[in-house]
Amino acid sequence: MTKKEYADILLPGVEHTKEEYEEMYKDRNLPEGAIVTRFAPSPTGFVHIGGLLSSFIARKFAKQTNGVMLLRIEDTDQKRLVENGVSKIIEDLKSFDITFDEGATGEEDYSGNYGPYVQSQRKDIYQAFAKYLIERDLAYPCFMSEEELEEIRKGQEEIKARIGVYGKYAKYRDITMEEALEKINNGEKYIIRFKSPGNFDNKVVVEDAIRGKLEFPENDIDIVIIKGDGLQTYHFAHLVDDHLMKVTHVIRGDEWVSSLPTHVQLFDTFGYNRPTYAHISPLMKKDGETVRKISKRKDPESAVSFYHEQGIPTDAVMIYLMTIANSNFEEWQENNKDKSYLDFEISFDKISSSGALFDMDKLINISKNYISTMKAEDLYNKTLEYASEFDKEFYELLAKYKDYSISVLNIEREVERPRKDIESYSTVRREIDYMYDELFNPTYEKKDFYSKELLEYYIDNVYDESDDKQTWFNKIKEMCPKFGFASETKEYKANPENYKGSVAHACEVIRVAVTGRVQTPDLYEILKLLGKSRIKERIEKF
Ligand code: GLU
Repeated sequence: MTKKEYADILLPGVEHTKEEYEEMYKDRNLPEGAIVTRFAPSPTGFVHIGGLLSSFIARKFAKQTNGVMLLRIEDTDQKRLVENGVSKIIEDLKSFDITFDEGATGEEDYSGNYGPYVQSQRKDIYQAFAKYLIERDLAYPCFMSEEELEEIRKGQEEIKARIGVYGKYAKYRDITMEEALEKINNGEKYIIRFKSPGNFDNKVVVEDAIRGKLEFPENDIDIVIIKGDGLQTYHFAHLVDDHLMKVTHVIRGDEWVSSLPTHVQLFDTFGYNRPTYAHISPLMKKDGETVRKISKRKDPESAVSFYHEQGIPTDAVMIYLMTIANSNFEEWQENNKDKSYLDFEISFDKISSSGALFDMDKLINISKNYISTMKAEDLYNKTLEYASEFDKEFYELLAKYKDYSISVLNIEREVERPRKDIESYSTVRREIDYMYDELFNPTYEKKDFYSKELLEYYIDNVYDESDDKQTWFNKIKEMCPKFGFASETKEYKANPENYKGSVAHACEVIRVAVTGRVQTPDLYEILKLLGKSRIKERIEKF
């Protein structure tokens, strides 16, 4: 029996050969230096903030080198799949402007010349590559049962040996074709293992684009390449897919660093160029005294859906991620105030090789700044969109009073130092609710100098909607002495015992009466928007 016939028996019904597949996927015709990279999530429907960071970085490199960013779905672990898991990932990423040049476009569909991009649709391809190895005596069937493997593992733990199938533990590594066929005829189950050519005493060096030179012992573990269900393992799929999809840069989370000896060994065995690896450190979080990785289980901010629920602008999240991605970004931003973060050129050598601390306060600050630069109408639209999903009551009001709401949001906006009180679309309501009678329900804290007489006199005899700001203020000043307030702060400061307060205190009385708050943006604008009759109503209520 030839090796080829043997491979046909071990993996029957494979349509094409490795060579045929290589023929099918031609080299890409891209400019020199173009980076072809990918995001390769499992279709769990969940995008982790770390995944967002990696995909954002990958997207950026592909774009700035006129390369390609593709989406590959790694659904080898069929147990972890969720319904519409792929679409949810695509949607989530799209909401952060992360889009793909090719790859999966839905649960089953894809676009691009290097597909399919969903691994469960690529079974024949992986098997063709596995057969190639079997024919060259670089892979073999392994008949060990789960129990046997478990026993080996326990034994290794006991004597503190490395865990895995290697050396004397690789029981079927040298099985002959005849022995294997006999077992198969007896109905024994098997998987396919790679026959590692490595020696643990030798060193292998990998140059990581972020971490620099990494040195490991060679891999000598006979990893599984095809499982009992005929599907490939992650390691094997990485080789086959990234080779056939002509990926030049593997940008991924650093949990895969320890797999590098296996990965480069697979590439070397096939005689393929290794891709450039760039391993991104995880985002960390302070947890009491310790610092740990942001965790899907413990931290709500690990899910990108969190940022939508909180109404944090996606651009603010991306700007924050950019500060994490490249240490020189903030300086660049300082010097390029008129440019978008998208104009910044990212580089590998400025990506930190140690995990950045996730800093929510910093993100909120970025968000505040970002919102302060938005046009009132844009902020209105975003808030409306947010409220339509998360706050129906506010949504109704925003929709009903569109122009009014835009004017409210425009207070202290197009000025030299715009208001920075709005943290997110979810906190817009908190900042402007007093401008809506339907939401105006203040609990006033009363102070000695609050004067009913002043308020009544003001609304009946002083306030005039047609006054400009200066006239409006002068009139308040003029009114002050009548009620024991100093027209000028200076006068008050010189002799506080002679007054109830200054013009600033008089304004506070008006402010608190009409808004229920001690602090608000520009009072003149607020009064103008409320209009005389609503001011009067509020004064009466007060
Ligand atoms: N499916 C793997 C993951 O979700 C991909 C790792 C890689 O990018 O190679 O972590």
